[in-house]
Amino acid sequence: MREPTVGCVRCGHGTTYPAYRCPVCASPLVLDLTPVTAAGCRPTTGRGIWRHAGLLPRTGHAVTLGEGSTPLLPLRRDGATVHAKLESVNPSLSFKDRAMALAASAALDLGSTGLVLASTGNAAVSAATYAAAAGLRCRVFCATGSNAGGKLDVARAHGAEIRLVPGHYSDAYEAATRAEGDGWLNVTTTYRNPLLTEAYRPVAAELVDDLGGVPDVVVVPVGAGPLLRGVWLGFTDLRAAGRTGTVPRMVGVQADACAPLAHAWGAGDRDAGEWATALREPVEVRPTAAAAIADALRGYADEGLLTLDAVRRSGGEVVAVGEPAIASAGHELARQGLFVEPAAAAALAALETSAVAASATGPFGVVAVLTGHGAKEPSTRTDGSTP
Ligand SMILES: [Zn+2]
Repeated sequence: MREPTVGCVRCGHGTTYPAYRCPVCASPLVLDLTPVTAAGCRPTTGRGIWRHAGLLPRTGHAVTLGEGSTPLLPLRRDGATVHAKLESVNPSLSFKDRAMALAASAALDLGSTGLVLASTGNAAVSAATYAAAAGLRCRVFCATGSNAGGKLDVARAHGAEIRLVPGHYSDAYEAATRAEGDGWLNVTTTYRNPLLTEAYRPVAAELVDDLGGVPDVVVVPVGAGPLLRGVWLGFTDLRAAGRTGTVPRMVGVQADACAPLAHAWGAGDRDAGEWATALREPVEVRPTAAAAIADALRGYADEGLLTLDAVRRSGGEVVAVGEPAIASAGHELARQGLFVEPAAAAALAALETSAVAASATGPFGVVAVLTGHGAKEPSTRTDGSTP
């Protein structure tokens, strides 16, 4: 495990965890971890995300329900080699379980009362699941616009308190921010809590172990995008430790209906200041089946810079896909035995849109990260039937 320090992404000011914003300039915080060794890149006998504890920040507790080490399956497609990383089969059926295993462990270390968060649904289920496993309380703020439906029933079953907030995800984000502190660890799965991004580093090691090499491209559905950044950080770890020689190009995908990152990216090659301005421009938000990645970043646009930075440094891109393409990709996956939610299907839809993905010609091809299962969201049925 690695020693973490917490610093401001903009001015570099160091602070003490838990903290959510720079006390000097109010920018997002990031964890800086001591370098990983070659031995630290290898799996251990630990369970869940702790199987790759060498890549994670040090914690005193190790809460797990067996998350991580998810299957990597080849997809039947014409042309490039495409594998699906099934984050949809984590214990609560989404990738968020990796972050919540780490967050619940940190909360126990801190003596916290519970986990509090804003969620479109998946994170609520995951946080409630891991809070229950750790004996912590859980408080969820969910926007009425997120249509989280059945996902909230699952969170309630695990004992979570649910507070519905009128409006969009960004309104729920603000409500969760007001509730953080006083023993409540904010585990909103944007970049608000700098610890959570770190939990995704082991995904890179799992991909290299399973493929036998580094993929050309990794496609990740993104709201704010910590999963994309965390996976990219993991690949940079492996390269720095001499385990691999390259880092894949990272492609972020959003739904056309809510695509602030794709909007900023598409405005051309910019510096961080210009990106920040672009991210603050109001973007039109329409309903999308891919609700799990519908994040307008209103009120915390600077968090998007962390994702854009990772994408640029990897040589990747951010794209947006339309609702018909998302539905079609979901149908294609379902016919290959993989029932995922629309946000996850967007990863496959991106292959038709992304020039970076289309350029993948290496032996390990493209990995599409399927972020969440379809079972929690029966309205994602692709055959038009009513659940
Ligand atoms: Zn600062």
